[in-house]
Amino acid sequence: TSFEDFKLNRQLLNAVADAGYTEPTPIQQKAIPLVLGNHDVLGIAQTGTGKTAAYVLPLLMKVKYAQGNNPRALILAPTRELAMQINQAIGELGKYTDLRHLAIYGGLGPKTQIQTLQQGVDILVATPGRFMDLYLAGEIVTKEIRTMVMDEADKMMDMGFMPQIRRILEVIPVKRQNLLFSATFPEKVERLSAEFLEAPVRVEV
Ligand code: AMP
Repeated sequence: TSFEDFKLNRQLLNAVADAGYTEPTPIQQKAIPLVLGNHDVLGIAQTGTGKTAAYVLPLLMKVKYAQGNNPRALILAPTRELAMQINQAIGELGKYTDLRHLAIYGGLGPKTQIQTLQQGVDILVATPGRFMDLYLAGEIVTKEIRTMVMDEADKMMDMGFMPQIRRILEVIPVKRQNLLFSATFPEKVERLSAEFLEAPVRVEV
């Protein structure tokens, strides 16, 4: 398989080439067509397998850019570091698109994050706590979210984010695509995926 075999556009393929990716990794080979095909996906993959691009590339393909100001996709990450990393990957792979993306996380004042939100964001990356804070402050309009990704779900469970995640699931549209990635698949994550995913296709590498 090559990246050219996926239904990705030229802007994305050029960015993939610039990033130096010559062929898709196993998780990308399996997950990209499923995400493009609107399936809910349960991905069991460690960091280093290329899991980020496995969902970022199809997301970049699906999200219509710069239409309105409200996020169309939400990516939840357990830590500020991971949120920043994901946001950076979106920037790199989306460099030839005019997609607007932002990472929101705690540990610093919300002012700049709020200003950027107000200017319009297509893909929002967030830690659960900061997402809920800014949502409750009225700064995030969730009604156009059509895809929800949870990255490092096992770490999210270990860090005790389940209550926040439940609240987030209550304030985003029910009709959406869900993607869950986890390095391991303990019972806690199994329960989360049963609650969160609809008829998921499981991919493991
Ligand atoms: P991740 O597992 O998403 O944390 O990615 C691990 C590293 O692999 C990152 O530095 C990516 O830039 C890189 N990477 C992702 N996909 C590919 C690919 N198809 N070929 C080469 N490197 C890749």
